[in-house]
Amino acid sequence: MANGDQFRELIEAYALGALDPQERGSVEAHLAAGCADCAKAVDEARWLVSQLAFLAPDAKPSDMLRGRLLQTVRAEAHAAESAKPAAVIPFWMWGALAALLLFTIYTSWETIQVRKTIDATNEQAKQEIAKRHELAEELTIAQRAAIILTDPRSVKIPMPAGSKDMPKLDAMWHAEMGIVVTGQNVPMPAGNRTLQLWLIPKTPGAKPMPSMMVRPDADGKFMLLVANPPDNMESTKALAITEEPAGGSQAPTTRPIWVGATS
Ligand SMILES: [Zn+2]
Repeated sequence: MANGDQFRELIEAYALGALDPQERGSVEAHLAAGCADCAKAVDEARWLVSQLAFLAPDAKPSDMLRGRLLQTVRAEAHAAESAKPAAVIPFWMWGALAALLLFTIYTSWETIQVRKTIDATNEQAKQEIAKRHELAEELTIAQRAAIILTDPRSVKIPMPAGSKDMPKLDAMWHAEMGIVVTGQNVPMPAGNRTLQLWLIPKTPGAKPMPSMMVRPDADGKFMLLVANPPDNMESTKALAITEEPAGGSQAPTTRPIWVGATS
């Protein structure tokens, strides 16, 4: 396209996922209209970001790229603080961020040493990504839970207790891998009774959907994994946990002890 293509200056930020929805929409429309220059620029920007770790120290990313990257991460940190499910950072970007931070910390000599480590880490990350997408069914419970708890794409759902005597729980929901709920200092339910998780649908009048059961260990800790949630997060209003008779229930028989809204 001719000089003065107004979209070119947005391309780096677009490749970083750093544009607001309106800007992103206009860039996508422009790309869909077939601007070859901008399409090439997107590829170059993505390549640059993914390769930051391997660039010579004097080939640092532009101030704009650096600024946009940090801006996006700050937005992400802010979103995490306010517990809103606004995480939009693509998975590959975290490696780029780590590399960028290394550039600001290490001298060029040290960078060479560090680069070897990053190399190995990237290889591991590649294998991990392959696993996530292709072998998700073969993951152990612990592996699956670890991914759900650490992947930036997971959405954190705080689950405060209705009673002051009960600790606050946290749930993490990953669109592909499932839900993990963790608790500490949780009192043991009496007798053989159990804690049971429920998904409360957004649809008005819809019944809570029964999910997994768990009992805390002797230290009051538990981790509950739902590998195949009965519904997705978009159509779920809240997670709730009740105490139920051994074996669980098809509908809650007590008031929820914990409730966490999904948004
Ligand atoms: Zn263009």
